[in-house]
Amino acid sequence: MSTFANTLILWQIQHGRHDLPWQGTNDPYAIWVAEIMLQQTQVMTVIPYYQRFMEAFPDIEYLAKAPVDDALALWSGLGYYSRGRNLHKAACLMAEHYQSRFPRHAAEIQQLPGIGRSTAAAIAAFAYGERCAILDGNVKRVFARYFGIIGYPGEKKTEALLWQKAEELLPQAGVKQQMAAYTQALMDLGATVCTRHQPKCLSCPLQPNCVAFAENRVASLPTPRPRKPLPSKETTFLIMIDQDKILLEKRPSPGIWGGLWCLPERQIDNNNQTYCTQSMEIDALPLTDLPPLDHTFTHFKLRIHTQLLQVINRSHKKTDNEIWLTIDNALQLALPAPVRKILLKTDFQQPLLAH
Ligand code: SF4
Repeated sequence: MSTFANTLILWQIQHGRHDLPWQGTNDPYAIWVAEIMLQQTQVMTVIPYYQRFMEAFPDIEYLAKAPVDDALALWSGLGYYSRGRNLHKAACLMAEHYQSRFPRHAAEIQQLPGIGRSTAAAIAAFAYGERCAILDGNVKRVFARYFGIIGYPGEKKTEALLWQKAEELLPQAGVKQQMAAYTQALMDLGATVCTRHQPKCLSCPLQPNCVAFAENRVASLPTPRPRKPLPSKETTFLIMIDQDKILLEKRPSPGIWGGLWCLPERQIDNNNQTYCTQSMEIDALPLTDLPPLDHTFTHFKLRIHTQLLQVINRSHKKTDNEIWLTIDNALQLALPAPVRKILLKTDFQQPLLAH
């Protein structure tokens, strides 16, 4: 086995993480759910979501049989909802084409919706001991520093070089037994030692050969993304109150918050008191404007204005994409994080009492 892999595995046995809820299993489904939830999300945030999700959907069949809304409801608050939609879609594909069995090799796993090369490799390494390299954000940072590689890791050329290094460093001997330990060790080192800020170089097992440490370049690697200011957008949500219920609309998919339940999104127009939804005409009286809420997406910033309205009259047709619910019931649905925040912050007593 390479010195690099050996060093990391020995370090992981002593200092790595061993009791996360998705460890100690070689069930590819359980590993897959964890790996998807962990993308862009901290371990401590993921744990309760993972436990609830696995309790509700313990295997591919349970997930495939459930409506996608049920899966998204348990995803609500984790963000990046396309991950939840893809998880459900992939479970349906496996139920239909693989007799609800997980594919056996990284190359096949990568064909499933929402699974990239690194995630497929992590699943195959943990579940089957397959010899394949991972390269998630944390691992890119470790390799960029260890080899002193300059260039933003999101750029094709830099990423190709990092993949090459990742493959070169894989354990050679006794691979099957070592792959899970090695993969976990890389993940643990990136998450707990070679962190983005204040890495713990003095207790790092890779320090003797780390180029960034030797050349005092740790703080400048990996090279940051070339910065462009994020564009700003504004929108208005309406909270339409009819007795003790509010209107929610399902967002079209694909699209931002696709498949989630959202407050109706309209332009502000204080003169117009008739609001037309997909199927209803609603006469409503504007009550008050709530303070704006700022939300940042990867590609733009959104300032959300919210207007509270009292429904005076409405037609009663509705579609599957529109629903009137009490606040408590609305909060049980899969809602985008800012919508949940707005509903939790809003004082519904005042306008309701006024009428
Ligand atoms: S020595 Fe420091 S920079 Fe190098 S791999 Fe270890 S923690 Fe990262």
